[in-house]
Amino acid sequence: MKYDLIVAGGGPCGLMAAKTAAEEGLKVLLIERRKDIAKINRACTQIFYLRKLTPAGKSETGQTRKDGYIEPVSVEVTGDKARFVFHGPGCAVNFTGCLRPYLNWIQHSPSGHQLHRYKLNDRVWGFYFQKQALASDLLAEAQKAGARVQQDVIGLGAENTGNGVRVAIETKSGKQVLEARAAIAADGKRSKIVESLGLNKKRRRFAPSGRKFVHYIMEGVETDLPDSSFLSFTIPSINPHGNIMLSMGADNTSVVGAMAVGELCPVTVIDRFISDSMFAPWFRNARLIKKEGAVGRKGGALTPVKEPVEGNVVVAGDAGAPSETWVQGAMACGFQAARAIIKELNGQKAYGEYIKWWQKSFAFNTPEYLQLNQGLYPINRLCTDEEVDYIYRRFEGTLGIPQLIVANNMDIIRAERPELHEKLTRAVKK
Ligand SMILES: Cc1cc2nc3c(=O)[nH]c(=O)nc-3n(C[C@H](O)[C@H](O)[C@H](O)COP(=O)(O)OP(=O)(O)OC[C@H]3O[C@@H](n4cnc5c(N)ncnc54)[C@H](O)[C@@H]3O)c2cc1C
Repeated sequence: MKYDLIVAGGGPCGLMAAKTAAEEGLKVLLIERRKDIAKINRACTQIFYLRKLTPAGKSETGQTRKDGYIEPVSVEVTGDKARFVFHGPGCAVNFTGCLRPYLNWIQHSPSGHQLHRYKLNDRVWGFYFQKQALASDLLAEAQKAGARVQQDVIGLGAENTGNGVRVAIETKSGKQVLEARAAIAADGKRSKIVESLGLNKKRRRFAPSGRKFVHYIMEGVETDLPDSSFLSFTIPSINPHGNIMLSMGADNTSVVGAMAVGELCPVTVIDRFISDSMFAPWFRNARLIKKEGAVGRKGGALTPVKEPVEGNVVVAGDAGAPSETWVQGAMACGFQAARAIIKELNGQKAYGEYIKWWQKSFAFNTPEYLQLNQGLYPINRLCTDEEVDYIYRRFEGTLGIPQLIVANNMDIIRAERPELHEKLTRAVKK
């Protein structure tokens, strides 16, 4: 057997797994499809969340719940050194890039009315971080610990043997089969490893396919809001599928992001936002540096892999998730997957513990998650710009997420705007 562990995928999950296993003396090979792990072209808002209120909630009660990874994390900064700390698994990751704290999340209507997600300047809810720097840091640490990293290699599938696993790969020089005692599927949302093991047969489709994300990295954006603000914009006439996001980067850049479905292209959404909306003057002196993109899973999002271990293969990070584990959840998961394999290879039983940790540490594994996601008022899709302006103006000063503010104030909306109330109620009942 050539390797103790083959890790498929060099995102935050796979890099963390390779680093952890190599530091414990395992002979590790990490394979990555991209040519350069440290170069990130996939769109990511690059927020390290300390807490997050998401729009999902029971509409009748306005109850909120967290999304993504739900164990506590923190960021420690001492002098020019920073660490991401994961209190659940009990590990930390050094980070040499820039960080910028977010204190405010300011949501805008088409005419500029604001709803604040958190109390202004109250406390830090997350940090902008540079994903590229994180990838370089993790890669350097994994290689320093002795992990072998092969880029430009596609993992095609895995097959369990009695005492190990065979991983089929494709390189420039052709196809080949590698052997190891264990493997980790960290190849993201569209995991070929998970598919090859037949685990997708047990998953249900719960969200449509065709979601496309685009981010513009820009210089010279001039808002009149503090740099510590994350901004979102509900403008149905420009994007009926979701909000447009604007955040300040850690390196004096700004990121404008949009998600769209079907025929509508997120590039069109962003171009219209920066040239035709009332926020266009902020972009008068702005310069586009780079565009990044991402697409949802072909065939739509699937419910989570319930038991993320199949023989000698451990599924980790987005590879087993319906939505996102987040960068932080992916790292925590890579660490836990590697730890479980280290123990198992030492003759201890650890996969059961890993499965339990996976099931309790991510919001998407809670029974109410998918149900709650369906109980939302789809404001972008249903409302006109004027109706969004009404909601934002009417409830200005109320803290929270627009969908939940609407849910909590349906009586007022029924009295003042019966046709809007009717439209929203009908959409949720469907
Ligand atoms: C638009 C957008 C914004 C986001 N914003 C945030 C945010 O602000 N904060 C946050 O925490 N998270 C955010 N996320 C989510 C976050 O990016 C993911 O949850 C996280 O990257 C998952 O890490 P991972 O390592 O499991 O998977 P990935 O990051 O997807 O890494 C998988 C790796 O495997 C490689 N790979 C894929 N297939 C193969 C194959 N067959 N063989 C070999 N290699 C393969 C890929 O090239 C990739 O490098 C965002 C996601 C999107 C789409």
